[in-house]
Amino acid sequence: MKRIALLGATGSIGRQAIEVIDANPELELVAATSGSQQIEGLARLTQVGGDPTALLERAAPDIVLNAVVGFAGLVPTMWALERGVTLALANKESLVAAGELALAARRRGGGALLPVDSEHSALYQCALLGEPESMVLTASGGPFRGRSAVELEAVTPAQALVHPTWSMGPKITIDSATLANKGLELIEAHFLFGLAYERIEVVIHPSSIVHGLVRFADGAAIAHLGNPDMRVPISYALNFPERAATPVPPLTLRTLEFFEPDLETFTLLALAREAGERGGTYPCAFNAANEEAVGAFLAGRIGFLDIAGTVAEVLARVDGAAARDLDELVEADRQARELVVVAGA
Ligand code: NAD
Ligand code: MG
Repeated sequence: MKRIALLGATGSIGRQAIEVIDANPELELVAATSGSQQIEGLARLTQVGGDPTALLERAAPDIVLNAVVGFAGLVPTMWALERGVTLALANKESLVAAGELALAARRRGGGALLPVDSEHSALYQCALLGEPESMVLTASGGPFRGRSAVELEAVTPAQALVHPTWSMGPKITIDSATLANKGLELIEAHFLFGLAYERIEVVIHPSSIVHGLVRFADGAAIAHLGNPDMRVPISYALNFPERAATPVPPLTLRTLEFFEPDLETFTLLALAREAGERGGTYPCAFNAANEEAVGAFLAGRIGFLDIAGTVAEVLARVDGAAARDLDELVEADRQARELVVVAGA
């Protein structure tokens, strides 16, 4: 029996996780949190908003499934890593922002870090078969694949909130439309697998059937395929190292297409790579500026292309110095957000 604490239980990942847990007698939901929605009765221990640390201490879970959206997921990520409690991580933003601090906490805690992000779950499974030489992260390309910058100027939140292959929360859906999501995932992969950025490639694959590919020194390349359904990577992380049945239909093979990403139009992917390569708190600033800019876009205060413009401006102005502790990281996040306000978003 595995006892699970689920942070972000009311979200897209949270609700699918509850489905996976309910369907499996080996999994028990012992604690659940949400940002603002009432969830009383969902688990023995529940909490709405606030710092989840006391709840996690009381719940003493075997697995923390962090399905919070944004930098707000930092606390449960660090709590689990520091204590060596298995962390099933959907909240990529916390790993992107905390980077080396998260890896150091994981070394001290000695627990497992299992990605829930579908591409990283795929890469993790491929990487169990050998030492990766390089990796390919696949991206659907989002709803605006093939469009030019001029064609994207007048895009509305409603248009950007329609994703061709995945049904997800609003923030990650916008990130998928700008390719910021793939940028965050590039940095996530760097920290999860310890690979240099030049060894991680991004390829557009519209049908989202191939989730990731790992190349090995002997010339072999192993890919992970599956229907796009988050219940599969959620189930993998919660049942690891076992596998449990899900209601996801078996995969039928069909033609698979791959394209180069258009970095001139979708500049957030290039900006994320640059932020990752610069290191320090540049990834934290990228994430913070992007979160603020996405919020401003969804609120109708800035245009679609201003999201990338805002992030570029913030990255040009922060010092990016590495954070020595969590207080410095939180300060770097705050400073980057403050610059977004100055930039007029
Ligand atoms: P969502 O918006 O649907 O849900 C977010 C959850 O976090 C909600 O339960 C909300 O109440 C909670 N929350 C929001 N702000 C909070 C705060 N300040 N403190 C505590 N809880 C807060 O988001 P989602 O689509 O489920 O995504 C969750 C995470 O998983 C994100 O990091 C996203 O990038 C990642 N992810 C999602 C998908 C997907 O298919 N939805 C796929 C891969 C990765
Ligand atoms: Mg993903």
